[in-house]
Amino acid sequence: MTRPINFCSGPSQLPLSVVQRMADELMDFRGTGISVMEHSHRDPMIVALFAETAERLKALMGIPSGYHVLFLAGGATLQFAQVPMNLLPRGGRPCYVETGIWSEKAIAECRRYGEPVVIASGRSSNFTDVLPADQWVVPEDAGYVHVTTNETIQGVELFESYAHIQAPVVADMSSHILSRAMSVSEFGLIYAGAQKNLGTAGVTVVIVRDDLIGAALPITPGMLSYQTQAANESMINTPPVGAVYVLSLVLEWLEAQGGVAAIELVNAEKAARLYAAIDGSALYHNPVDPRVRSRMNIPFVLRDASLDTAFLAHCAEARLLNLKGHRSVGGMRASIYNAMSLGEVQTLIDVMADFETRRA
Ligand SMILES: *Cc1c(COP(=O)(O)O)cnc(C)c1O
Repeated sequence: MTRPINFCSGPSQLPLSVVQRMADELMDFRGTGISVMEHSHRDPMIVALFAETAERLKALMGIPSGYHVLFLAGGATLQFAQVPMNLLPRGGRPCYVETGIWSEKAIAECRRYGEPVVIASGRSSNFTDVLPADQWVVPEDAGYVHVTTNETIQGVELFESYAHIQAPVVADMSSHILSRAMSVSEFGLIYAGAQKNLGTAGVTVVIVRDDLIGAALPITPGMLSYQTQAANESMINTPPVGAVYVLSLVLEWLEAQGGVAAIELVNAEKAARLYAAIDGSALYHNPVDPRVRSRMNIPFVLRDASLDTAFLAHCAEARLLNLKGHRSVGGMRASIYNAMSLGEVQTLIDVMADFETRRA
């Protein structure tokens, strides 16, 4: 039986070799005779696994010194609260760029603790575009600027530099971390849930500049203090060891692909081909401004929506899974993260073309 191609936005397809390695090691992690999930997190082997994984991430992303890498639980969604809880005591106004549904959620969560200022919004374009970063009006008393650098649902990705922004830039990179080179030093804090481009659900990577690690709001649970987590190597309590293990395998796989620079070339080609196929067809349509089209999440609609069900059935028959768009925007969406090969994207393009030909 051939493996289906899984276009799910998250949890998403893992590299086949990673899944095979998980299967191989399940009965015996590093010669111990038991699985990684059955080891104490205090075992030096697991402490070393966490340290190694952080080092791999630092090397792959080019994280300079002066940053902590934390492996936390609660998903990217918990960061919507954890960021203001930890950064508001430093003073300044929490500023947000509104690019779509995930940034809306981050803004709403911030409102529980402070008064978020929306400094740029794509709302008037129905989140198919957003003002370029050099035109954002950042207040002088900004405490931080939060950006969702890839909006997973709308398929909007920001490719800009933030170096000109004085306040710390906080980025939700959940759905495109490690998909292309990024200059980490432009950011004060980066977070990403692992289940899109890093591995499996259960761990959220937080990369935080040391000077932003300080006292949190008094109401903050100890678990949610970056300071306490950093002081305890992300092991205040039992951490998600299994998810960190999968993350370590995905990072090793990415190293073997040639790292971020190599995967970026593949990702650019995958997205270019799929957008060209959509734009060149009479049936499919993507509404996003080409300047901000995501390379990872490509939403599209069928111009004749009455064909949606038939299209999804046609894809399912070809073993292409999870192409239905998010319930809030409808239509279709192909999530083509690092683990999706160029050949697999080409299969989707061929199946889409075949459907269009038959229906024409
Ligand atoms: C998926 C996603 C989230 C939510 O992630 P959880 O880990 O499920 O909380 C937040 N932001 C972005 C950009 C996402 O793609």
